[in-house]
Amino acid sequence: MPKYVYDFTEGNKDQKDLLGGKGANLAEMTNMGIPVPPGFTVTTEACKYYLHHGSVPDELADQVTAALSQIEKNTGKGFGDADNPLLLSVRSGAKFSMPGMMDTVLNIGLNNETIDGLVALTGNERFAWDSYRRLIHMFGDTVLGVDGELFEDVMDAEKDAKGATNDLALDAKDLKRVTEKYKAIVAEQTGEPFPDDPRTQVDLAIKSVFDSWNTDRAILYRRQERIPGDLGTAVNVQAMVFGNMGGDSYTGVAFTRDPASGAQGAYGDWLADAQGEDVVAGIRNAQPLVELQSADQAAYDDLIDIMARLEGHYRDLCDIEFTIERGKLWMLQTRVGKRTAGAAFVMAGHMVDEGLIDMDEALSRVNGAQLTQLMFPHFDASAARGAALTTGIAASPGAAVGRIVFDSDTAEEWADNGETVILVRRETTPDDLKGMVAANGILTTRGGKTSHAAVVARGMGKTCVCGAEELELNLAARTLKAPDGSVFNQGDLVSIDGTSGTVFAGEVPVQDSPVVQYFEGKVAVDHDPLVSAVHRLLTHADEKRRLRVRANADTPDDAQRARRFGAEGIGLCRTEHMFLGDRRQLVENLILADGDEGRMAALDALRPMQKGDYLEILEAMDGLPVIVRLLDPPLHEFLPDYTELEVEWALARAKGARLDDDRARVFDAVHRMHEQNPMLGLRGVRLGLVIEGLYEMQVKALSEAAAELIKAGKSPRPEVMIPLTATVQEFEIMHDRSEKVFAEVEAEYGVTLDIPVGTMIEVPRAALTAGEIAEQAEFFSFGTNDLTQMTWAFSRDDVEGEFFGRYIELGIFGVSPFESIDPAGVGRLVKIATDDGKAANTDLEVGVCGEHGGDPASIHFFDAAGVDYVSCSPFRVPVARLEAGRAALGEGGSDTR
Ligand code: ADP
Ligand code: MG
Ligand code: MG
Repeated sequence: MPKYVYDFTEGNKDQKDLLGGKGANLAEMTNMGIPVPPGFTVTTEACKYYLHHGSVPDELADQVTAALSQIEKNTGKGFGDADNPLLLSVRSGAKFSMPGMMDTVLNIGLNNETIDGLVALTGNERFAWDSYRRLIHMFGDTVLGVDGELFEDVMDAEKDAKGATNDLALDAKDLKRVTEKYKAIVAEQTGEPFPDDPRTQVDLAIKSVFDSWNTDRAILYRRQERIPGDLGTAVNVQAMVFGNMGGDSYTGVAFTRDPASGAQGAYGDWLADAQGEDVVAGIRNAQPLVELQSADQAAYDDLIDIMARLEGHYRDLCDIEFTIERGKLWMLQTRVGKRTAGAAFVMAGHMVDEGLIDMDEALSRVNGAQLTQLMFPHFDASAARGAALTTGIAASPGAAVGRIVFDSDTAEEWADNGETVILVRRETTPDDLKGMVAANGILTTRGGKTSHAAVVARGMGKTCVCGAEELELNLAARTLKAPDGSVFNQGDLVSIDGTSGTVFAGEVPVQDSPVVQYFEGKVAVDHDPLVSAVHRLLTHADEKRRLRVRANADTPDDAQRARRFGAEGIGLCRTEHMFLGDRRQLVENLILADGDEGRMAALDALRPMQKGDYLEILEAMDGLPVIVRLLDPPLHEFLPDYTELEVEWALARAKGARLDDDRARVFDAVHRMHEQNPMLGLRGVRLGLVIEGLYEMQVKALSEAAAELIKAGKSPRPEVMIPLTATVQEFEIMHDRSEKVFAEVEAEYGVTLDIPVGTMIEVPRAALTAGEIAEQAEFFSFGTNDLTQMTWAFSRDDVEGEFFGRYIELGIFGVSPFESIDPAGVGRLVKIATDDGKAANTDLEVGVCGEHGGDPASIHFFDAAGVDYVSCSPFRVPVARLEAGRAALGEGGSDTR
């Protein structure tokens, strides 16, 4: 016969699948000999059966009856016994705690008869009626679906009538009246009297827990968190103990150490004469744990002792719920507790010192997301701050203060003049990049976590609040209006908190992250407990990891910072910025050149400038590899905008004039080069093949820079990377041409160059023909951004703002594939190309240089796929080091709790 009911003495903490988290831990405590009110768990299997068949399994009723008698035996009370009534709580508890599941119902078993028994038994009339009115409220609300406010209104009216502010002022008579009114509400709202039969109460509550598995909120949450929809929830039925039996009874919650700072020492809150969620609901001001000593020293000592035992047993921070009924301590729940990012690091270190865990385990208990949080500046918690103007979406963590600007040009201009600015936009577009770079923080009134602003800001490590819809942005008037009616103009100060999404008027003081200061070498390892813990865990991660970590850096400043943060080279140095600014004119000359001569002249003018750039970056990374990617974007990106030129042309025509010759040639060229789908047009290696001399110029500049440095006694290690290769033929041609250039430069400078030539793998065709390409290439680097675009046929800039939010809501993916690698699709291509590439060329070095290189889940994927290194933005290098270390731990390290 299938077993659907487990007494608490029958389970243990590893049975979360069957008993749910709460049930498994209640069983564990029971078996440790810790005082837990007796009870049983109805399994997730029973829930699954119910969800599938629409009714509970036939065996359930008898098994519940048997389990109830066991509780009766243990407590010496009878369920429904008018003289000595047993009361129960019914508590939901899935494997993962999730929003939407049914709230706990307490005091089940009370009715018109048992209430008298409870009064007689306890001699406490107030307590009995307090329990009864709570039952009807909780049961009415959660099981019968009556609007909870109707009950609250009654309580409020009673308190008002007495001129009281809290529930303690109501006496037994008041509470009895409240109970009668509650019953009337139930009868009116449901058309039936409140169920009197205790067994009916339990059965309805159990079913109601099962039903709550499929509330909209629970379904949505599961989709987003990738929790399977068929796990089902367990139900715990447990004898009541009473923290509301008078001034000598208490209920509370506690942590075995401080979940905020990680400091050692128990910590918690409690209330006298209270029940259930009173402590966390804030109905009265809770008291700190230490003060429980003066209320009941013996119970306090028991509690501290049990908490120490639990921590030793779970070898981790535990959070607990307890009740003290007239001197007797009862434990009602425990689980491994949530903690802040800082606390996670600090307590992992402490627990190693205390001998609770080893370093590997400590490493598995922290993660990259937490380290990221610790690296952002934050608002000084102790500083006075005004009320929040509004709260938007916390898109990229950190704290930023600055003057409002409404466009990117102004952002740049003001920043150049030494102002710190907050760029305020409806949404950002790629045109806002320079404004975003210049700004201290970004605030948008539309868009969510995957909007352009959010994604780019996270990539830059810049604070961003998105979708602050309550703010009215008037771009024409250059004003921002807050919900409270206050109006902000360009130049007004605001503060934005990207960790919470809050926006403040004026300046809130900001503190630098001590962790970043440590990476920067500005504070010592022993600066504070947090910095020491981060240092210690990162050092361990470095010892453990197989994956190497490089950085994506285009400038010497970025390269240096990456090195300080622990990068072992540059995995991607983009060269497009070397064609901007004053050099744009030269690029224009190149594009407009009539014949070979004009083109070569333009290239000759560009080369020394490029060489200068390369010299700087190779010097900054001396001794470490620097992968330089040849020019990738379509050339028209360097020319004036087509629409603008069209307008110029139309205006001139309207006046009966024409564009001057130069302008007309530019217009012609732009017109000619206009592409429907620039992402799929003349870019990457195609540019190198079509515009003869362009890539050779870049390779030559790089080789010359290397040759010069070698002559100066340095150890430059440049590598040449060809972008957007789709077929081995493209690569072969460019490889040959590069080799020719190396030979020329070697002869010219009299040095030997050893410059590997490799390719990006960012086109599905390249991934699928990786074996062929690997025979010619010395390295691969997965450009996972483009590879994701091409594999999904998503233009990132278009889709992220447009409909990704909806896709995430629909649960099509829990996280954007641009943020975290899509293992089944894009990831599969990475795996195929890595395997085929390495099979064809055992020396092939394989890296990842897309943004995924800094994403924790993706790093675990790449480690498993056999990639050699990841490359990410300098700011994310420590995160990548940590996650690569965790990935090397195997199973334990992938837990991203
Ligand atoms: P949640 O999952 O929201 O924490 P719980 O099932 O833990 O819900 O119940 C909420 C509160 O109800 C607990 O903190 C505890 O104070 C109270 N409670 C639950 N069961 C009992 C019981 N058997 N006796 C006394 N109080 C209980
Ligand atoms: Mg609880
Ligand atoms: Mg690319």
